[in-house]
Amino acid sequence: MYFEKIDEFENLEMTYISDFSGGYISRNSELFKHIELNKLNQFILEKSVYGTPIFKIGGGGNKLLILSGIHGNELPAQIANLKLINELVNENLSNTLFFIPFAAPKSTMNNERTFNSMDLNRSAHIENSVSNLIVKAAESLKVKFVGDFHSTALNSNPGFEAIFSSKSPSPESFLVANYISKDVGSEIIAFDFAGSSYKGAVEDVFNLRGTPAVTCEVLCPFGNVGRGTVEKSFAQMKSFLSYFGV
Ligand SMILES: [Zn+2]
Repeated sequence: MYFEKIDEFENLEMTYISDFSGGYISRNSELFKHIELNKLNQFILEKSVYGTPIFKIGGGGNKLLILSGIHGNELPAQIANLKLINELVNENLSNTLFFIPFAAPKSTMNNERTFNSMDLNRSAHIENSVSNLIVKAAESLKVKFVGDFHSTALNSNPGFEAIFSSKSPSPESFLVANYISKDVGSEIIAFDFAGSSYKGAVEDVFNLRGTPAVTCEVLCPFGNVGRGTVEKSFAQMKSFLSYFGV
């Protein structure tokens, strides 16, 4: 994958995962009112019109992916991901960080869970689904670990703040989940084997293919931004990065 350097932002590079998943993030008014309209965020939103952009900051060290928006109506993590890019874009990092703030901008625009009626967290094993393209892109970039950030509503699955992981075949999934859980107080959910309860979750597909991954959930109504939820998701992301010394 060829990353383009961005003149306005010295340390930022970007390319596209797909060119058929774009959307106008600003049309999601609930999300949009929580985004600071600075130059960098405007740039990211403009790029999201044409597909799913992936951004890169830093070089060397561990290659990590911070992913959000797999479910377009789970807003806190998408806002937190933008905040994280803003915070790190001027840092001199000794690791390589990849960010996908909006996995499917069209779904985020519509404030809906699915992309063209497909649940991207049940279709990462399906050839050329958006989430499958994300998996393949991360593999080609030799990403060492993936954090996939979501939110969950009461009475849904899991319905409480949690870190999903599995012990096999990528045991570091469980180790990282433990670390984040202890650090920020989210409950840990650990399966013995990835993908044993349902098929096609991004985290499971990564774990099954040998790239350890976790799914981090904050508690928030779907399609909304609950008080303190962006900060909580942000804390999970920072904890994830701190495991790797970022
Ligand atoms: Zn989700």
